[in-house]
Amino acid sequence: MLRIAILRGGVAKKLTIKNPLFNGVMNNRVCSARHYNSKNTTRVDLADIRKNYVIVEHSFDAIVVGAGGAGLRAAIGLAAKGFKTAIICKQYPTRAHTVAAQGGINAALGNMEEDHWEWHFYDTVKGSDWLGDQDAIHFMCREAPKAVYELENFGLPFSRTPEGTIYQRAFGGATLNCGKGGPAHRCCSAKDATGHAMLHCLYGQSLAYKNLQFFSEHFAFELLFQDCKCVGVLAWNLESGNLCRFRAANTVIATGGCGRMYFSTTDGHCCTGDGTAMVARKGLPLQDMEFVQFHPTGMYGTGCLITEGVRAEGGFFTNAKGERFMERYAPKLKDLATRDVVARAMSMEVITGNGCGPKKDHIHLHLHHLPKEIIKARLPGIQNTALIFANIDVTKEPIPVLPTVHYNMGGIPTNYKGQVLTMIDEGKDKIVPGLYACGECACASVHGANRLGANSLLDIIVFGKACAECIASCNTPGRPIPPLDENTGMRGLVYLHNLRNSAGKTNPAELRLKLQSTMTKHAAVLRDGKLLKEGIELVKGILQEFNNVKVTDKSMVWNSDLMEIIELHNLIINALLTVSSMEHRKESRGAHAREDFKTRIDEYDYSKDIKEQTKKPLDEHWRKHILIWGEMDGKTSFKYRPIIDHVLDNSTNSIPPSPRTY
Ligand SMILES: Cc1cc2nc3c(=O)[nH]c(=O)nc-3n(C[C@H](O)[C@H](O)[C@H](O)COP(=O)(O)OP(=O)(O)OC[C@H]3O[C@@H](n4cnc5c(N)ncnc54)[C@H](O)[C@@H]3O)c2cc1C
Repeated sequence: MLRIAILRGGVAKKLTIKNPLFNGVMNNRVCSARHYNSKNTTRVDLADIRKNYVIVEHSFDAIVVGAGGAGLRAAIGLAAKGFKTAIICKQYPTRAHTVAAQGGINAALGNMEEDHWEWHFYDTVKGSDWLGDQDAIHFMCREAPKAVYELENFGLPFSRTPEGTIYQRAFGGATLNCGKGGPAHRCCSAKDATGHAMLHCLYGQSLAYKNLQFFSEHFAFELLFQDCKCVGVLAWNLESGNLCRFRAANTVIATGGCGRMYFSTTDGHCCTGDGTAMVARKGLPLQDMEFVQFHPTGMYGTGCLITEGVRAEGGFFTNAKGERFMERYAPKLKDLATRDVVARAMSMEVITGNGCGPKKDHIHLHLHHLPKEIIKARLPGIQNTALIFANIDVTKEPIPVLPTVHYNMGGIPTNYKGQVLTMIDEGKDKIVPGLYACGECACASVHGANRLGANSLLDIIVFGKACAECIASCNTPGRPIPPLDENTGMRGLVYLHNLRNSAGKTNPAELRLKLQSTMTKHAAVLRDGKLLKEGIELVKGILQEFNNVKVTDKSMVWNSDLMEIIELHNLIINALLTVSSMEHRKESRGAHAREDFKTRIDEYDYSKDIKEQTKKPLDEHWRKHILIWGEMDGKTSFKYRPIIDHVLDNSTNSIPPSPRTY
């Protein structure tokens, strides 16, 4: 166990280090170094460690970490405004998880019937179970049509209506006239491969800018802080084995989600929550981590996603008795209710013995009644996936499906401009200077307790651009920035060095499986206090076991063993903060369904007239964001952020809470 205890200005040749795996420099006082009760304090010789590494210095106006949809849109915005921008990604840009998005992107274009962004706003607020911040939701829904037309102008090949306008399909929770009409056709798609089309089109656009430089296959693992300001990031060039200190006045984190902490997930192998963990390791909080979205239709066995677009085109569920059970759970929207409602209904069917198959453990999704031409034209990818992964011909038989981990509503707290927030005084937001976040790793919070299908591709475009605009509004391209202290980022170096030389015995693949099984069992669709408490202890144990991890490959060039071990550590940190937040929130709201606290607990009982009631104070209800801080021994602490109920201006009205039915 090592710990860096003192590291202030000047050149510290010797560092005292307790734990190399948690190198917080900011705590909720923002500035002072975190102090842990240390029994095992060791001194490390920094100069000696440094000798083993080539450290290359880079300087930019702005850095974007992540080249998915969010990172690319942020980088394009910065480059277009003249900022010399670095975009760092651990893969090739076209391999980010955005490439896997199928169904589409929401915008009230009104191509299929009358539609308005205010109706989209209403659906998103209701979809969030009134946990979303209404200023951010206002911003996103209002900007949505512009964002989609911009993508169309960038060359995204959207599917078309016979009239030649962008084709739109009905997605879960999207309604006309604020729930008073039927389903709204609001989701713009490029067949069932919208993310693929989007990512490639954004990448193509980004290549137009000479001042935008790609650092592909560079793994970021440490944020750099100086004088309480984020000043860049430390990354590992996987190809050369060198380390790179990227220095910039502004850093945007766009590293995607952390679905891989579960065994069955639709997320790609790259979704290991590196950005959220990097922020948490700096002693900054994460927000609303308990809200993990289970997509109703992961393919039974493999977890591959079957898009909601299947139900949008007329697909439906049945249980073992052949019943269309969704009619009982959501009489109005049925199979097109929101994901949290559908996933819960499917879990209830399985629990009550109505599951399909010999083990009665899944649900059937039918699309064989649809015309073959529709399947071919609008769902060709699904047809292929079902054939390859389950040997199923969707024109003849149902697809076996199960709710599968899909999306993180929580993440790095930001305002609607993308600026990262922390909290020092209870209830008061504090902006972390120089640090921005957007996309799935961030929590703006537009999705609140439950994200609507097709609102994430929108979120990444709108808030990627917002980060660029906010940076451009208070910075000038080419403005000189102070040099980095020699020691800035060296905690990260020690972290990497110690891991690399770890002589432990724990097999990382087995530990990952243990983590994934623990999360699958203890942090599932339906949750209860006892299981969650056990889950916390198990994840804490896994965190301790990680200290004894075995690293086989000691090299620096293309050491995927070591990279995956850092990713595993990131997953463990995310899992700890997720399961702890799930235990902490003692109510059911959106995707967070507690068997022991079955109702939503607001400041008023909105099922009754509120005029007769007294408003509950913040600590007596749960319509609030949970901020969680973690420490290396697994200890966590919490603070609360009030929900933002006001909108940006008088172009629409905020939506007061009410009971949520579909
Ligand atoms: C199968 C699937 C289908 C989906 N379908 C839809 C849909 O139809 N509509 C919708 O709205 N949403 C959909 N979603 C959700 C949506 O696609 C994602 O939330 C969104 O694309 C995330 O984009 P992002 O830019 O935030 O992250 P990502 O696309 O995941 O990109 C993250 C980037 O960060 C980089 N990175 C990560 N860690 C590091 C590190 N340590 N160092 C350097 N770089 C790093 C990665 O290399 C990558 O470039 C779907 C998700 C899945 C999994």
